[in-house]
Amino acid sequence: MNNFENYEKFLEILDEDLAKIFDYQKEYICCQKGCSLCCERGDYPMSQLEFNYLKEEYNKLDDNLKKQINENIEKLKKENPDSYTCPYLTDHKCSVYSHRPFVCRAFGVLTEDSKGNPSFPFCSTLGLNFSKIYDKEKNHLSFALVKQNNYKIFPRIFRLSNKVLMNLPLVKEMGIEFGEVKKLKDFL
Ligand code: SF4
Ligand code: SF4
Repeated sequence: MNNFENYEKFLEILDEDLAKIFDYQKEYICCQKGCSLCCERGDYPMSQLEFNYLKEEYNKLDDNLKKQINENIEKLKKENPDSYTCPYLTDHKCSVYSHRPFVCRAFGVLTEDSKGNPSFPFCSTLGLNFSKIYDKEKNHLSFALVKQNNYKIFPRIFRLSNKVLMNLPLVKEMGIEFGEVKKLKDFL
């Protein structure tokens, strides 16, 4: 299960592709250092392999950070909300950034839902990424707003769900086994 060597190779490829995706959509993206809203509202589904990898980084953290994270975890377990701040977020920074799962790597881009419809990053409702082309009433991408705002590039929807990424032919070729996918809370 802990096939981190191949998983890390796969992450390198994925990160290169994601960098191109973010660059392509940069007109619509306003992520800035210090913004951590996407880690403050969610359920962060990930696979067993991704969680094991995240924990590998956690194990290297200093005791103070570990203490903060463990307190966050205890609070989360006690309150048990559906949507929550990720316990690995400390001082508005991801404490396990290099080992974060797929779902976090794709934060902020326009993806698709299980039916193939555009899925906006949640911060589009807060005036952030893609907000100028988000039709709130129809909960959909508005081509009229793309034109109205004089965007040069048409927005593209990328297929970046866990299901899509974990079933890529390359993943199979590399022999990567992700294991069960669950919400972060259910791994803790
Ligand atoms: S693992 Fe890191 S990037 Fe992902 S939600 Fe938690 S703090 Fe944010
Ligand atoms: S995706 Fe949205 S919430 Fe997350 S850092 Fe970017 S602007 Fe902020």
